[in-house]
Amino acid sequence: MSEQAKLLLVDDRAENLLALEAILEPLDADLVRASSGEEALRRLLSEEFAAILLDVQMPGMDGFQTAELIKQRERTRHIPILFLTAISKDAEHIFRGYSAGAVDYLMKPFDPLILRAKVAVFIELWQKTVEIRRRDALLAEQELAAVERESERRYRSLADAVPQIVWTADADGVVNYRNERWYELTGLPRDGKTVWQDFVHPEDVAVTGATWAEALRTRTPLDAEYRIRLADGTYRWFLGRALPTADGWVGTSTDIEDRKLAEERQAFLADAGWVLGSSLDYEQTLADVARLAVPRVADWCAVDIFVDGKLQRLALEHADGLKLALARELEAPMLAAVTVATRTTEPVLVTEIDERALASFRFDENQLEIARALAPRSYVTVPLTARGEVFGSVTLVTAESGRVYGEEDAALAQELALHAAAAIDNARLYAESERRSRAARALEAVGDGVVLVDRAGVIRLWNTAATTITGVAEADTLGRKIEDVVHRWQEISPRIPVASKPGEPVRAETVPVEFGGRELWISGSGVGFEEGTVYAFRDLTEERALEEMKADFVATVSHELRTPLAAIYGSAQTIRRTDIDLDPKIHDQLLGVIASESDRLGTIVNDLLVAGRLDADQLPVTVEHCDPGELATSVVEAARTHLPESVVVELDVPEGIARVVADPGQLHQVLVNLVDNAIKYSPGGGPVTLSVSNGDGAVLFAVADTGLGIPASEHRRIFEKFYRLDPDMTRGIGGTGLGLYICRELVRRMDGKIWVESKLGEGSTFFVELPAAER
Ligand code: ADP
Repeated sequence: MSEQAKLLLVDDRAENLLALEAILEPLDADLVRASSGEEALRRLLSEEFAAILLDVQMPGMDGFQTAELIKQRERTRHIPILFLTAISKDAEHIFRGYSAGAVDYLMKPFDPLILRAKVAVFIELWQKTVEIRRRDALLAEQELAAVERESERRYRSLADAVPQIVWTADADGVVNYRNERWYELTGLPRDGKTVWQDFVHPEDVAVTGATWAEALRTRTPLDAEYRIRLADGTYRWFLGRALPTADGWVGTSTDIEDRKLAEERQAFLADAGWVLGSSLDYEQTLADVARLAVPRVADWCAVDIFVDGKLQRLALEHADGLKLALARELEAPMLAAVTVATRTTEPVLVTEIDERALASFRFDENQLEIARALAPRSYVTVPLTARGEVFGSVTLVTAESGRVYGEEDAALAQELALHAAAAIDNARLYAESERRSRAARALEAVGDGVVLVDRAGVIRLWNTAATTITGVAEADTLGRKIEDVVHRWQEISPRIPVASKPGEPVRAETVPVEFGGRELWISGSGVGFEEGTVYAFRDLTEERALEEMKADFVATVSHELRTPLAAIYGSAQTIRRTDIDLDPKIHDQLLGVIASESDRLGTIVNDLLVAGRLDADQLPVTVEHCDPGELATSVVEAARTHLPESVVVELDVPEGIARVVADPGQLHQVLVNLVDNAIKYSPGGGPVTLSVSNGDGAVLFAVADTGLGIPASEHRRIFEKFYRLDPDMTRGIGGTGLGLYICRELVRRMDGKIWVESKLGEGSTFFVELPAAER
C-alpha cells in the first residue's frame, strides 16, 4: 500500500486556498495549507511533499524567494513547484519562475481539470519515487543481510573447521553459538538449552565458574583448564580461553588431554619415586604406590609379588570400594594371567579389552559377568625385575575413565616398575645386610668362640670371644691357615666332632690347646656347610681347674674329716675299754681330744655349708655400725683359748677408731678365719697380731704372722675356692681351701676389700678394709 501523498498549498489568501482544495480534493492527497512563504518553509522542514503549489504574489517573502530557498535545501530541492499567478504573463516573469525551480507556471484562473491533471502527475511521480526509494532501501537491506550472512557463514565454517571448540556468548555470558566440533565431541543436543555446568567435570565446576565470573565482571580474557564430558561419558582435559569482543565473548576450548596426561604421568612418577624411596618397608610402599596410581594414571592398580615361586596379590586399588570387593572375585584368574605376562620382561599392553581379551582370562560364568560389569577398557602389565630376576608385577587398568592406554602409558608403567623394582631390591638388600650384620653382631656378642674355616683350611671368621679365649687377635687369624694359628691343629682337629650339616646334634669334646705358651682346655664342636666348617668352642680351663681342685678337695676333705674322726674314735674306744684302768688324767686328756676334734669337724662342716650358701647366693648380709675394737677383742680372746704353746696372739686397737659398717657376725667369721690361718701357718710359732686402724673413710683390719709366707704369684689365687698352696700337705697342715674364699666373698658383700702382703718364708699380713660409719 502506497503512502498518501502530501501537497503543500501556499497562498496568502484563504479563499484561494479553499478554491485549490476544492479543485484538488478528488486526488486523494493530503492537502497542507500554508498562508505565507515562511510558513511553507517551516512545513517543509518537518514534512515531505509530493508537490508544492506556490502563489507568486504574497506579502513578505514572495513565491520566487520562497522557491529559491526551497531549491537551496538538499532535502527539498527535488520537490516539484507549481507557481500560481494572476499577473505577469510576460516572459521575464515566467523565466524567473522557471529559474527559481518551477516545473510549471499556472495562470489564474485555473482550469481545474488541467490543474488537477498536472498535480496528479506529480503525485504519481512522487509515489513512484517513494516506491523506488522503498525498494532501494529494501534491496540495500537485503544485500546487507546477504553480506552479513555470507561473512557469518564463512566465519562459522571457519569455526567449524578448526579442531577446537569455538563458541560465542553475549555480554552476559549466555552462549549463543557453538561450533560443530563442540556438538561432535560432547554429543549434546542442539536445542541450546545446555549450560556449561552440564558438561564440565563436577570437580572443575567451582574453579571454572569463579574464573568465568571474574572474567565477566572485569571483561578481561579468561584462561582455565577443565575437563569436559564427551559423548561417551568420559572426560577429557581442555584449555578454555574466552576473549571479550565488542558485543560479547568469543571462546575456544583446546584439547589438552595429552599434555595433561603427560604432566600427570610425570607428576605421578615423581611422587611414586618419592614414596618408594621413603621407606624400606617395600610391601607398604608398593601398596602406597598403588593408591597413588589411582585415579591419576589408572582406574585400577594391582601389585603382585612372587612368594615362594607363586604370585600373590600385594595390593589392589580402585576408587570405589564396592568394585574393589567385586574385583577380588577375579583374583585367581587375574594372577594366572599376570604370571604368564611376567614370563617376558616386556610390558604387556592391551589397548582394547574386548570379549576375546576377556575370554583369555578363563573366567568362569560368574566371574565373566563381574568382569563385564567392571567394564575394563585397557590394561598394561609390567614385570618387576631386579638383577634379571622377575619378582612381581604391576598392572594398570582403565575402566570408567574411558582412557585408552597407548605406548606412552606402557612406558610409564615400565618406568614405575623400574622405580619399584629398585626400591624392592634396596629393601631386600638392606634387610639381608641387616640380617647379616645382626648375625655378625650376635656372633660378636656370644660368649662362645666361633671360627669359620673355609674349604681350603683358611680362617674366614674369628669372633671376639675367640680372641678373648685364645688371646689371639682377629687380625692375626683372618686369611691365615688354621694350622698356622692353632698349635698342633693336625692332632687336635680329628678329636673335634663335626656335624655334616647344620642342626645335626654333636657332643662337644674337650681338648687341650696351646696358645702363646698358655695351655687351655677347650670344649669344641663343628658344623660343616657349603663354605667350610664353623667351629664353636668354649674355654673350660677354669672349669677344668675347678674340677681338678674339686678332686683335690675330696682328697683333702676326706683326709681332713678322717683325721679328727680317727682321733675321736680312738679316744672314745680307749675310754670305753674295761680291760685297763685309765689314769684319770689320761681320761681327761682323751675327753679333751674328743672335744677339740669335734670342734674341728664342726668348723669344717660349717665352712662347707657357708661356701655352699655363698655359691647359691643365699647368705643374707645385714650391715650395721659395729665397734671394730670390741669385735677384734672377742676374736683374739677366742683364739687364745686353743693356742699352740709357741704362738702368742696380740691385739692392737688404738683409741679413736671409727665404727665400721659391717655385718658383725660375718666380720667376726672373717677375722676368726684370718687369725686361725695365721696361727696354723706359723708352724714354728711366733707372734700373731690383729691390729685395727682408721683408713680413708674406712676401717682397716690387719692380721700379721711371721710364718710360712706366700709367694707373690699365689697372692690372688689363694682366695679362690678350694685353692691351697700345698694340696698334698707336704707341710702337714690340713685345710679345705675354703677359708679365704669365704673371707673374700663375705668382705665383697659388705662392700669391702681383702688382700694379702707376704713373702715366702717371711710371714704374711692379711688386710681387710671396710667402710667406716660417718661420724
Ligand atoms: P686352708 O687353710 O683350709 O687350706 P684357706 O682358704 O684358708 O684354706 O687358705 C688357702 C691357702 O692359703 C692355704 O692352703 C695356705 O696355703 C695359704 N694361706 C692362708 N693363710 C696363710 C698364712 N697366714 N700364711 C701362709 N699361707 C697361708
